[in-house]
Amino acid sequence: MDATTIERLLGPRADEMGCDECFDRLDEQVERELRGQPVDPRMKAHLDGCPTCAEEYAALLEFAR
Ligand SMILES: [Zn+2]
Repeated sequence: MDATTIERLLGPRADEMGCDECFDRLDEQVERELRGQPVDPRMKAHLDGCPTCAEEYAALLEFAR
């Protein structure tokens, strides 16, 4: 088991965004992406590590386009 897997099992660290906050801001990030603006790095880190939110984000992005 590598360090990344262990970190995921332990859940988000204090400086990482939780799913609730991520979900609240999905719309905002989709809008940013559509405008060609950089996505919030904390948001991106969460999406990279959380398949649930990443899926939701992809669906919203698809819908917005
Ligand atoms: Zn999440």
